[in-house]
Amino acid sequence: MKHNIERRDFLRLGITGAFGVMLSASDLLWQIQAVKAAELPLDTPQSLSPDAALQKLIEGNQRFVLHQPQYPDQSAARLQEVAQAQHPFATILSCADSRVPAEIIFDQGIGDIFDVRIAGNIATPEALGSIEYAVTLLGSPLLLVLGHERCGAVTAAVQNEALLGDISTFVKAIKPAVTKVKNQPGNAVENAVVANVQYQIQRLKRSRLLTERVQSGKLKIVGGRYDLDTGTVSIIT
Ligand SMILES: [Zn+2]
Repeated sequence: MKHNIERRDFLRLGITGAFGVMLSASDLLWQIQAVKAAELPLDTPQSLSPDAALQKLIEGNQRFVLHQPQYPDQSAARLQEVAQAQHPFATILSCADSRVPAEIIFDQGIGDIFDVRIAGNIATPEALGSIEYAVTLLGSPLLLVLGHERCGAVTAAVQNEALLGDISTFVKAIKPAVTKVKNQPGNAVENAVVANVQYQIQRLKRSRLLTERVQSGKLKIVGGRYDLDTGTVSIIT
């Protein structure tokens, strides 16, 4: 009976082969954790280069756009693999908009993306702190600031009307970007979406922790725009 329970637990983990079927689930987990701890201590950057990390995101977005997702890193085995330590290959500062969920639009899974989501993808002190944590302590090699088409937060900043409650706090953080492009031809909101990504990146680059990582080649900071109609992410900086 005991053997049956253990075997069922083992199968539930979805791991086969390497460790043999005689191991109990707890033995197996202990081994996985020991291996991971040896391979990836907390302050060691994980193995992907910044360029490879960007490529991985772009390829995932292409799969999403083509409706050919692979849903990577979503198995029970992956859950256990990252339970004790995370080393996300990308950190993404994106809008809280319900139509822009990073794991889905980049076809990634658990432990892959360190998500910082806030309306208007603005670099508040709390957002910066979260990003610095992901980059310096978790070793994330890529930081993407992602704006999107028809962003409500950017639209509010462009329209410049009185707002309820604390909504004006994020609008205020976007206004400098709106001012930069107010005389540009074209759609004011779309221009401001791109300008806001560039402006928030500028603000993030004031961080000494981030700029040191960029200078040593351990981090790349890029900006992107998400197209709500097609699902495509374009790299804009
Ligand atoms: Zn938005």
